[in-house]
Amino acid sequence: MKISRFIINPLLDFIYPPICISCSSLLSDNSQKICSSCWDAVKTVTKDHPLYWETRNRLIASGSIDDLVSCYIFEREGPTRHIAHALKYREYRSLGINLGEKIGNLIADWEISFDVIVPVPLHRIKYRERGYNQSEYIARGIAGVTGKPAACDIVRRKRYTQTQTKLNIEERYLNMKDAFEILPDASKKISGKTCLLVDDIITTGATINSCAKEILAAGTNSIIAASAALAK
Ligand SMILES: [Zn+2]
Repeated sequence: MKISRFIINPLLDFIYPPICISCSSLLSDNSQKICSSCWDAVKTVTKDHPLYWETRNRLIASGSIDDLVSCYIFEREGPTRHIAHALKYREYRSLGINLGEKIGNLIADWEISFDVIVPVPLHRIKYRERGYNQSEYIARGIAGVTGKPAACDIVRRKRYTQTQTKLNIEERYLNMKDAFEILPDASKKISGKTCLLVDDIITTGATINSCAKEILAAGTNSIIAASAALAK
């Protein structure tokens, strides 16, 4: 196994050299899907960024979430459009882990403490279409850096919801209402704990808020929302 990988991977890299998913420049390291100059062009979240404050305040006001940690600002154009698109595909799951590691580092910088990582689940139809849940891979990246456990058996998406891109904030919150339910025995695992609830991208916060409501009702102590990115 090791020997074949030793031979085949360099051969594949020779036939299909790894390229940046955003600018198509050659990459020296195939585990990195994005070149360093594209990463440098992505805006990072700071605690005084208006979009961070706006999103955090909205999440806290909705009553289930206590804090927000997020790494990047995703825009409609440029590298972030390609990153957001790539996250939907299983072959780019290392990108999810990579983003999770970045969140993990930010959590240490911002001195945020929590007990357990819970990825926002996909509906089983979407899971079947994609073959994986990108939030689970982001959660794995966070777990690797922070040493905290990731639990994927806490909550389930019970209702299939159509894409929310054409909906306004009120419509999105209505669309996500009662979309999740707690799984059996989950409340034992989260009771009295602080959960880090992880999604890939937070826009209005309707999805993560709806998920947080169910987790809170199951007896968790508090919930911190985490995402790789924030988007308008
Ligand atoms: Zn690039």
